[in-house]
Amino acid sequence: VSVVAYITISNQLTTKTVNQIASIAVKQNQKINALLESKQEDVLRLANQYDLQAAINSYDASTTKNSSPINAILSDKETQDSAIQSIYLTSESNTVYASTTADVGAKATVQGNTKAGQENSITIQPDPSDGIDTLYISTPMIINQVDVGRLTFTYDIDDFVATIQDYTGLGNTGDTIVAAQDDSGHTISLFPLRFNAGAALSTRLDSLQLFNHVGSTYHSIDYNGHSVMVSVQPVAYANWVTATTIDTSEEFQPIMQLRDTLILIVIASVIVITLIALYVTQIITSPILRIAAASKRIGTGDFDTRVEEHRHDEIGTLADSINLMGASLKSFVSGIESQRNHLSIILNSTNDSILTLDRQGLITTANRVAAELVGLNLNDVIGKPMNHIFRLTSGSQPLTIFYNAAETKTYSNVELIDSAGQTHFLKLIVARLDSNQAGDQNIITIRDETKNRELENMKVDFVSMAAHELRTPLAAIRGYIELVKMKQTDESSEISGYLNKSLSSAAELGSLINNLLGVSRIERGTLTLNMEKSDLAASVTRAVTDVGFTARDKHIDLKYNGPKTGYLVSADESALREVIANLLNNAINYTPSGGSVIAELKQDGLLYRVSVKDTGIGIPAAAVPNLFTKFFRVKGGLDSGNKGTGLGLFIAKSIIERHGGTISVESKEGAGSTFSFTIPILTPEKLAAMQAKEQDQGIKTGVHHGWVTKNINR
Ligand code: ADP
Repeated sequence: VSVVAYITISNQLTTKTVNQIASIAVKQNQKINALLESKQEDVLRLANQYDLQAAINSYDASTTKNSSPINAILSDKETQDSAIQSIYLTSESNTVYASTTADVGAKATVQGNTKAGQENSITIQPDPSDGIDTLYISTPMIINQVDVGRLTFTYDIDDFVATIQDYTGLGNTGDTIVAAQDDSGHTISLFPLRFNAGAALSTRLDSLQLFNHVGSTYHSIDYNGHSVMVSVQPVAYANWVTATTIDTSEEFQPIMQLRDTLILIVIASVIVITLIALYVTQIITSPILRIAAASKRIGTGDFDTRVEEHRHDEIGTLADSINLMGASLKSFVSGIESQRNHLSIILNSTNDSILTLDRQGLITTANRVAAELVGLNLNDVIGKPMNHIFRLTSGSQPLTIFYNAAETKTYSNVELIDSAGQTHFLKLIVARLDSNQAGDQNIITIRDETKNRELENMKVDFVSMAAHELRTPLAAIRGYIELVKMKQTDESSEISGYLNKSLSSAAELGSLINNLLGVSRIERGTLTLNMEKSDLAASVTRAVTDVGFTARDKHIDLKYNGPKTGYLVSADESALREVIANLLNNAINYTPSGGSVIAELKQDGLLYRVSVKDTGIGIPAAAVPNLFTKFFRVKGGLDSGNKGTGLGLFIAKSIIERHGGTISVESKEGAGSTFSFTIPILTPEKLAAMQAKEQDQGIKTGVHHGWVTKNINR
């Protein structure tokens, strides 16, 4: 604003000054032109005056000059105009014909030297008698019809100036001079028109370059070295110029003062604004800095830190938010803390070992049980590599845990020998934590199943022992009943009926005992199968024949589709037949009277497939996955009316799998079921390999035992 104001005012002032000085210059110039014109006309008028012409024509050189008629006319004129210093008439050769002064000779010489010929002339020359600048105005005159003389008026410059000085209101600073160019081209001042004593004294005005700017107004440097504004106008009658100047350093002083004041104001404003800005910044930033410091303290865990800014502006809102954040964080962290405590209590109250591992496999968390498992303190476990602390083996090989599995992985039958040399049987559950997290990577749960296993063993041992111990008395009971039956001759008597029922109950009991023995053998891994070349078709045919009576009793249509003999397999024939019998018995059991059961045997690629299809009650889809597990029986349906243990299919599955086959079921509730199993075909190559092996051993594997009738080898 200051700069614009300054430039505007300065331009306005310059324009105003230019206009002012130009108008003064023109007026001064008009005056001097008019004056010179009138003086010139005075001279012309006298030159053309009749009496002067007549006097010149009758000029008599013999008469004294002063008393000549010419002199009288000239003197007359001089007395009329007080401004005129002197008037004289000279010949072409500067001979003075007449004059109003005595020292005119010298003047005439000066006059003649400067101007001659036909022209009117206006010049300023120093007066030879006193050296004072004098204005000479002359006009040519024909004397004696031959000689071209001159009539000349001289004027005192000061008087001349006095007549043209005006009151144009240029003020104290403006100067006007009349200047001319001398013979060598220098600009010289002729006379000052206003106040210009300096210009009058200084003859050289070259620095103003007046003659280059005739008719214009411009800035320049004067003879004093001052910055000035000059307006130059031509003087038509004398080949002079008038130059009006203004000393701008004086004229423009107020604007310069204004400029200096503005500069001062701007500097002061900058300083004041800077100070205010600093102060305001201080006011604004100091609470922000306090809030920042408090946030930092909260960030480092000092949640009790509070910002004391009781204000109702944005800063106050910010401070309240920070305080709220601190309070929330405190309750949040204490929540986490208590959760951690809960977690630690939970961790330490479980019987399972729980560990977390980082990416390097180092233990980051462990519960007490985990440390106790390896006989160490918790502190000795944390930070150590998992595989150094827990020397786990599986099947006597070091256990390799696959930590990077995306899903949870379970490792069963893992062993660990503790510091006391006792073997622990473990189950490991390895789960991966969120892989994006930088911290822990895995969580491992170790279940010590040693005790369970012992219990399980004890149970299996007990079942095995009890079943075994029951077999001998049961055999005796069956023998005695058979004996009594033989003695009983009346087949239709009541006793005979009781005896038959006793026999069938004893048979059921025997089958239950056999099943229990089978299960305990499977579980203890002591089930031995006597594998030898066997005719699968014969086995199926025999099993179908064996259950023929039961089916007929129950009015069930039993059929067999398949060959009577052939279809060689490597199998324990007795065990295999028991499996087929079990499937057939189940089919009959779970099919109401009037239904049908079809057994089938066929080749299926490199396998033989035996299937037993019934039109019975079927099995609900939800029960199918559990069908082959121990003691599983489908609830409802016919089960309540059918005796069973839920062991048959479990044993069947184990036996079939031991033969390298698979067992499966397809069933629709209410429509019937099809149980089928596969057995690999005994190819000639396999048979040759089997025989070679038998020869190597030198003996045949031994007496054939049906698996259900095998001695318990304890
Ligand atoms: P058990 O017959 O002695 O109960 P299994 O292991 O042989 O034991 O059979 C398990 C269960 O499977 C049976 O209790 C019965 O509910 C169901 N089941 C087996 N075979 C059939 C079948 N053919 N039709 C319907 N249900 C069957």
